[in-house]
Amino acid sequence: MHKAHKAKSAHAGKLARATRLLPNGIPRWVRVYDNGGETIDRYTVVYTGRYAQKTGGEHWVLGMNGAPYHPQGVGMHSSHTGMVDALGGKWSPKIGRKCHLGVRVRFEDLPEDCQRAALSDYCYLWDLYEDCGSCGGYHPMGWDGDCRDNVHSLVIG
Ligand SMILES: [Zn+2]
Repeated sequence: MHKAHKAKSAHAGKLARATRLLPNGIPRWVRVYDNGGETIDRYTVVYTGRYAQKTGGEHWVLGMNGAPYHPQGVGMHSSHTGMVDALGGKWSPKIGRKCHLGVRVRFEDLPEDCQRAALSDYCYLWDLYEDCGSCGGYHPMGWDGDCRDNVHSLVIG
């Protein structure tokens, strides 16, 4: 009885954390840029926040075109010691402002597949996956989408 109750509240705590890190399913600690198609990796997602214990101190960046899961699509990770959009002590731009990566846009402005790819990274970086009882895979905690969209099963190069 007590044990079951404990397990339940541990899960509630995890869910609360997921809600903080993914309010309304939107990753909180990312900055997203769109260069309008100047380069093939049009969209850039910079993962911010304190996850560096997971990556050996490196900060991850994902560059992609509008179809990162397509066989001819582009989705490239890189990792950096600093924030690529805030180099040399500069501030990163606000939404609607520019830096060398393009104009900063909202996460929701990304094409759907780009959101999915970024969400997949984000859930890895912040340990936000949990076992799904029905499909045997993993989904972001609190996620209520279709199992066929299981982001964990999709790996981009
Ligand atoms: Zn599932």
